[in-house]
Amino acid sequence: MKTTVLEKKNVLDEALKKIQKPGIKEILQVQQAIIRGTHEFMFEKNLVQMMPLMLSPITDPLNHSVVDASIEYANQKWSLMKSMIFHKQLAVSNPELAAIYIVSPNVRLELADRQETGRHLFEFTQVDFEFNNKNKEFVMGFMEELINYLFSYLNRQIPEILIKLRGQLLPEYEKLAVYRTEELEQEYGDDAEIKKSLDCKEPFWLLNHKREFYDREDPSKPGTYLNYDIIWPLGFGEGLSGAEREYDYKQILKRMEETGTDKTVFKNYLSAAKSGLLVPSAGAGFGVERMTRFICQLKDIDEATVFSRKPFSELIF
Ligand code: AMP
Ligand code: MG
Repeated sequence: MKTTVLEKKNVLDEALKKIQKPGIKEILQVQQAIIRGTHEFMFEKNLVQMMPLMLSPITDPLNHSVVDASIEYANQKWSLMKSMIFHKQLAVSNPELAAIYIVSPNVRLELADRQETGRHLFEFTQVDFEFNNKNKEFVMGFMEELINYLFSYLNRQIPEILIKLRGQLLPEYEKLAVYRTEELEQEYGDDAEIKKSLDCKEPFWLLNHKREFYDREDPSKPGTYLNYDIIWPLGFGEGLSGAEREYDYKQILKRMEETGTDKTVFKNYLSAAKSGLLVPSAGAGFGVERMTRFICQLKDIDEATVFSRKPFSELIF
């Protein structure tokens, strides 16, 4: 007789225990306040909200392998959205939509090696934003302002919950320290990003990651990239990620070749680039559950969910 998932691991008990875990309400209230504060900040800054998409013929190729998640529909292959990077990039080509944001569900079927990182889920929510004709410096300023706005919003809205969960209110940060990957790799070797995060008490910038083709290469310093991440301290790791984007057709082709991206999948995106439809833009995004984890100082990001989304686990809901 075939054993069901239920009999094998008593997964129902585990799921129910998780739903009823003491403190889950307060964690969700922190997350709710992050979203409420984000909407207010974006509204004050005049960003227009787009609704998220869940399916697309193209999605973020990512910088690491995940299990492919796609379905057939109307004689086409549709991928579950890993991020809305390309939709953001195209949308801001309309000057009316020069500043946009999306609260976007991302499905990334992470492999088993990411099960115990404490910062990966296979499904999460990203607050994703993009600006027409803005540069790295502008978006970095915007991201620092966003974090300080959210932290002070949470301090005002839910002080008792913060004290209960983390023992104190959230700090306000001055300008964050700035590092480059090549610098940290010299000092720390492999896994420099997470080692530096473990060493730091405040979030910091990490610039110049060699990754997906759409992050713009610095024309004044080829081989380096105009991207910028904020790394949470105390070992919590990457929190926010952004970049100026490639928009020049030839440059996109070159970067696709370098990164081994399948050009056939991107043929329509490439023809859009060739016809000059892509405009200079820059943006960023942050994982809502990762910010919740950092604020609540949770050991594992999965503690910020009511229904587990731990990579590579057997789940029934
Ligand atoms: P990325 O486009 O890969 O930089 O992802 C954007 C943001 O989403 C990251 O900075 C993280 O905060 C968050 N994020 C990325 N992957 C995951 C994941 N597997 N689980 C939870 N959050 C994630
Ligand atoms: Mg990233």
